[in-house]
Amino acid sequence: KGTLYVVATPIGNLGDISTRAAWVLAGVDRVLAEDTRQTRRLLEHLDLHKTLTPLHEHNEDRQLAQVLEWLRSGEMLALVSDAGTPLISDPGFALVRAAREQGLPLVTIPGASAVTAALAVAGLPTDRFVFEGFLPPKAGARRRALEALGRETRTMVFYESPRRVAGALADMAGAFGGSRVAVVARELTKAHEQSVQGTLAELADQVADGRIPLKGEFVLMVAGAEAEAAGLDVEVDHLLVQLLTRLS
Ligand code: SAM
Repeated sequence: KGTLYVVATPIGNLGDISTRAAWVLAGVDRVLAEDTRQTRRLLEHLDLHKTLTPLHEHNEDRQLAQVLEWLRSGEMLALVSDAGTPLISDPGFALVRAAREQGLPLVTIPGASAVTAALAVAGLPTDRFVFEGFLPPKAGARRRALEALGRETRTMVFYESPRRVAGALADMAGAFGGSRVAVVARELTKAHEQSVQGTLAELADQVADGRIPLKGEFVLMVAGAEAEAAGLDVEVDHLLVQLLTRLS
């Protein structure tokens, strides 16, 4: 049986390819790529010439049987996406699930992902966080999605396209309050990398006046709500003490 290697690639800076990722890409029979042109650039940088097969959201289901057949017949395959870790807001889930169901060997080759890269320098709590991926593009659905996160106490991480950043920050201020602390990270690992912390209101101002240009790729992170449950426990304890003193 062949092996499916799920290989993380850089999110901007080609220097972030790991030695092990390069070694696996050099050794496999075929590379399954979200965008073959993008991956060819990476392979050229590594001086590799490989057979590339497109595997993206529009053909993943159709290609599945063929890819599983290659694996069953003993081919070594690498799955890569355009940037970062496959399956993280990127294609690959259907293939990995099917490979697992059929007992085919899977190996993870970890590396960059915008979610962890952004959290690492955000200065927001990272002991617990929730990755929300992309918010719904339409305003109404986005507002509902954010309102559903109103009581979330973990740091929230969102991917967002530059043309929706201003609207998302405004809706986040609506759902969480303009004074909630957040971070806008853009162009991580690239020449114009920026990671700015402020309240949602301050960040909206910085976007409006161009201090945060709406260019490149964005990760938005929002601090979680104060834990209300902890407050409730204190109240219950207080009531119990009062009750016990009256009873005694
Ligand atoms: N699989 C990728 C990963 O592991 O992060 C994510 C792919 S998703 C289609 C692309 C989104 O990731 C972008 O819209 C942006 O939100 C985020 N992203 C990717 N590269 C980034 C970078 N260099 N700086 C900031 N955000 C980035």
